[in-house]
Amino acid sequence: MSVTSACYWSLKHPPAATRHPPATIKGRIHSFETFGAADGPGVRFIVFLSGCPLRCAYCHNPDTWASPPAFEQEPCEVLDRALRYRAYWGEDGGITVSGGEPLLQPEFVSGLFELARAEGISTALDTSGYVEGAADDVSIFSNPLRPYAKLLSLADVVILDIKAFDADLHRRVTGRSGEPVLAFARHCAGMGKRMWIRRVLVPGLTDGEADLRATGEFVRSLGSCVERVEVLPYHDFAIPKYERLGIPYPLRGAVPPTPGQVAAARSLLGAG
Ligand code: SF4
Repeated sequence: MSVTSACYWSLKHPPAATRHPPATIKGRIHSFETFGAADGPGVRFIVFLSGCPLRCAYCHNPDTWASPPAFEQEPCEVLDRALRYRAYWGEDGGITVSGGEPLLQPEFVSGLFELARAEGISTALDTSGYVEGAADDVSIFSNPLRPYAKLLSLADVVILDIKAFDADLHRRVTGRSGEPVLAFARHCAGMGKRMWIRRVLVPGLTDGEADLRATGEFVRSLGSCVERVEVLPYHDFAIPKYERLGIPYPLRGAVPPTPGQVAAARSLLGAG
């Protein structure tokens, strides 16, 4: 097993160290955010990965969809970069991996989380929860021969977007079925995993009372592991990105929800 000589973590933990992930695992990375305050507890270093199987109508990061990444790095290189900001994390902060979709790169995320946990750093997985095939075979998340069991065991917090409860609505919002997402949520709850649940509220698309109510009931069924439920008001700040990328903006004409609509959605979802 070789290691990257430029990597601080590798210098502290030479190749004989058993926990060093294989150097061949490279993350396809879109970008970093050094002082994230919204994606997990406390102040966090956020790793945005490239590639996503969904095409959410309100996505504000369409530049992460493409699989050719901005760059590739090994887990220890990413950890080195994150450690520069450790002094700002306090007791609650740490590292969040977001996207794109982190579940497309489970080995890399596991490698990074394993190193982070060895350093006593909190880890958060910010995900759509979509894994192809999970609805038909939920054992995909617990099978030790698949990469997800290890990844989930290493995530301190899972931040899960439930974009819609109704299957047709989920498909309309994201282009894919929502069944795998619900299976993922149930599995995390079965593990007792700390979870934050999020819902992007788009008037006329994801603000229907019946679907919000059904989502709220589902979230309550997950139990006390759900620590927080958040409503994220839609905004159209990403339109220039779509124009730059030459992608037609799917929600042209949509408007942000009013404070009253957000409050109603929070109530239906059971957000505290
Ligand atoms: S899951 Fe996230 S990154 Fe992927 S399309 Fe939806 S909002 Fe965008």
